[in-house]
Amino acid sequence: MTRTDSAAPRARLTVLAGPTAVGKGTVSADVRARYPEIWLSVSATTRPPRPGEVDGVHYVFLTDEEFDRMVEHGELLEWAVVHGRNRYGTPRGPVLERLADGRPVLLEIDLQGARQVRESMPDARFVFLAPPSWEELVRRLVGRGTEDAEERERRLGTARVELAAEPEFDHTIVNDEVHRATDELVAVMGLAPHGAGRTTGAVNA
Ligand code: 5GP
Repeated sequence: MTRTDSAAPRARLTVLAGPTAVGKGTVSADVRARYPEIWLSVSATTRPPRPGEVDGVHYVFLTDEEFDRMVEHGELLEWAVVHGRNRYGTPRGPVLERLADGRPVLLEIDLQGARQVRESMPDARFVFLAPPSWEELVRRLVGRGTEDAEERERRLGTARVELAAEPEFDHTIVNDEVHRATDELVAVMGLAPHGAGRTTGAVNA
């Protein structure tokens, strides 16, 4: 069985990455709402919470010092400075515990983090969430309205680099419609999707 076989056995650990504003957070929220059997890792971050974000649910919000401490103690499976600004990382313990329990685990992280996980856990399945087009990605980023112009430019710069990394991934899913993309992700994880959608995703060579 090869890494690129979409009929591979159920993945224990799946990494979802993709450019900024492609909708990774929306797909993750849809997974959380519709597929409670999948455990979604809660990342630690030094970014301040946005309105509506709940500590311990969407992220664990940490001070720089608290984040430093997690890094020093080896408590992060991966971590990265994202968009040249804040630090984000995956707490190692909860992921390993869920995997030991046999739960399917999903990490929604950036490209740098995905590369680190590929080094430390090469058996994980790596999924790239792609926008339908560059224009649509820009529209989504501007439409979200949560970042100022400078931050938007910074994120678009990151997105250009991130888009070029698509061939590193085992699968590509185009986020054209959230429920469909989620169901495709679930199918790629080797689980039964609830929706009636067909799995149409490209399998990267
Ligand atoms: P946002 O600030 O919009 O919530 O997230 C910004 C970026 O950080 C997204 O691309 C997201 O995938 C990434 N990110 C979130 N959590 C983690 C993490 O634990 N590790 C890494 N490397 N990136 C993360």
